[in-house]
Amino acid sequence: MEIAIIAHDGKKAEMVQFLNEHSNVLHHKNINLISTGTTGEKVSKAGFNVNALLSGPLGGDAQIAARVAEGKCNMVLFFRDPLDRHPHEPDILMLMRLCDVHNVPLATNPATAELLMKSL
Ligand code: PGA
Repeated sequence: MEIAIIAHDGKKAEMVQFLNEHSNVLHHKNINLISTGTTGEKVSKAGFNVNALLSGPLGGDAQIAARVAEGKCNMVLFFRDPLDRHPHEPDILMLMRLCDVHNVPLATNPATAELLMKSL
């Protein structure tokens, strides 16, 4: 199963803490992690294998959206910062839309991500 992790800058520390709290589940051999570029560096530094794509503003969210559309990505954990502005807002909206189009579980805050982890 492929799980995408994306964290905006204001949420990256919380994302790393979340991964560490769920490392037993996320280290499972059946789970492949992918992420946007800078998020991926943090995920990797936290000790997880991750396929880091482009940085969000350079198209990373769009790459993940494409994988959702192609049926390759099965879950998205999106640690959004709703209090910041993002130059790639259209890509973010596309990602969320395609998760809805393809009925792929999408967490847009840590509380929902927590519930999704419990489902694994
Ligand atoms: P980043 O992108 O992981 O490269 O910081 C995340 C985002 O802004 O969507």
